[in-house]
Amino acid sequence: MTTVYCATSNPGKLREFQLAAPDFDVRKLQAQLAPPEETAETFEENAMLKAVYCGQHTEGYLFADDSGLEVNALSGDPGVHSARYAGEHATDADNNDLLLENLLAIENRTARFVCVIALVKDGCPVKTFRASVEGRILEEPRGTGGFGYDPLFFHEPFNCTFGEAPIADKMRVSHRAQALSAMFAYLRDTAATSETQSAS
Ligand code: IMP
Repeated sequence: MTTVYCATSNPGKLREFQLAAPDFDVRKLQAQLAPPEETAETFEENAMLKAVYCGQHTEGYLFADDSGLEVNALSGDPGVHSARYAGEHATDADNNDLLLENLLAIENRTARFVCVIALVKDGCPVKTFRASVEGRILEEPRGTGGFGYDPLFFHEPFNCTFGEAPIADKMRVSHRAQALSAMFAYLRDTAATSETQSAS
């Protein structure tokens, strides 16, 4: 079984990573590393910065993600600033309150969650994987599940918010699940190719 390390300190994300690929040994990075500030303006750059930094201390495959919420009426904000939308030490509740304030009286509330996963091997960049899921921002939170903006994010096919949906349902459709699934498909392909090459 291939071991893949993941660099995250967010327990909500870690739970989703661990549910994603039973045929891989997905491990949380044990080393206490302070990852670099997420200062870049794209999810791709931020995810790769984190992965390369943590990968320098790890043999084999390691992935890091960057994710966030893009709201169409706010020109894609909070975007890469989602975790700190309301300030450096903002809580999820602070961020949700600010989002609602900025959307007051705005009719178009369409939005998407975006996730980019960056994969490195022995600290060297391999590839990035991007995925998204569409929804709209409600006028008040609903549900206590998930994390971040989940209680405000209404997903039409579920007819409820990600905060109300069971985690297994969110995992079927989420931005992170889709990006992870693309990364694991790539790793399976790579493993199959190298087995074929070593057999010939
Ligand atoms: P990151 O840790 O820099 O990727 O920040 C991601 C931030 O985006 C989180 O702290 C949340 O505010 C938001 N976010 C990303 N994915 C989700 C999700 O699945 N549900 C709710 N909020 C999310």
